[in-house]
Amino acid sequence: MANPIKLKCIVSSIINHDDAVSTITMTPSRRLPNFKPGQFLHLALDPFDPTVGFWPESRVFSIASMPLDPDITIAYGVKGAFTKRMREELAVGKEVWIRLPYGHFGLAASPDEEIILVAGGTGITPFSAFILNELWRSSGMVLKLVYGVKKPDLFLFTDMLIEAMSRLSGFKLFAFSEEIYDNKMLFSINKGSLSFDKIWEAANDPASATFYLSGPVNMINSLKAGLKEKGINPEKIKIDEWE
Ligand SMILES: Cc1cc2nc3c(=O)[nH]c(=O)nc-3n(C[C@H](O)[C@H](O)[C@H](O)COP(=O)(O)OP(=O)(O)OC[C@H]3O[C@@H](n4cnc5c(N)ncnc54)[C@H](O)[C@@H]3O)c2cc1C
Repeated sequence: MANPIKLKCIVSSIINHDDAVSTITMTPSRRLPNFKPGQFLHLALDPFDPTVGFWPESRVFSIASMPLDPDITIAYGVKGAFTKRMREELAVGKEVWIRLPYGHFGLAASPDEEIILVAGGTGITPFSAFILNELWRSSGMVLKLVYGVKKPDLFLFTDMLIEAMSRLSGFKLFAFSEEIYDNKMLFSINKGSLSFDKIWEAANDPASATFYLSGPVNMINSLKAGLKEKGINPEKIKIDEWE
């Protein structure tokens, strides 16, 4: 794994999906280090002075873009004090610092293995990087994505999802929203929240599939418990631990 480095970035775009969830793209001041889809970065809002070396307060965010992109994208939901500051202070043109790459959450499977990606809310971010990477250079893995949000506006990276549906062989999206209203999505949305039954039903052969889980801790814990109860080998349950 590449050694983490600290990079100054300029915020180049912000999409506010609602009053709590945003996607942020940053342009680094020099080339990004090599990183793997599924890895995460530290983001600091206060300036970092390399001559002093003290790293300011930061939080970690999964990287949604792929290593070849010159820019880097994250998505976050406002939860506590730091993400509230992000919502208030981030603006196009603002300077921020990032430190990367970190983490070992990667897609590793044989081409004939069934892979079920399960994303709750902003938990889609590492899967965005997985899917973009497959769109760039397909490994032959067949991906199914079960993606649940509170309301249709909170489906993130929809252009990428639509491209995956048309270009990635075998890719299937199972989209769920707690609320349903008239929207212009180019994929069908089922009403309801994510549940164990929904992820189980998404697999052709759930007993031998590998499940990747990313999202809120309570969602992860309940899905993990359901999979274990069905006797799924813990090695076939991969989790992006956010807490
Ligand atoms: C691997 C990983 C990937 C993640 N990816 C995402 C993502 O893509 N999108 C997303 O929205 N969230 C992601 N998170 C969660 C994110 O890092 C924040 O913890 C979360 O958004 C909580 O919000 P907050 O920092 O505003 O909350 P806060 O209440 O401010 O802090 C949350 C936690 O941060 C720790 N903390 C508190 N103060 C400090 C401090 N001074 N310095 C360092 N840590 C402190 C404490 O453990 C606290 O419980 C990820 C977390 C992990 C571990």
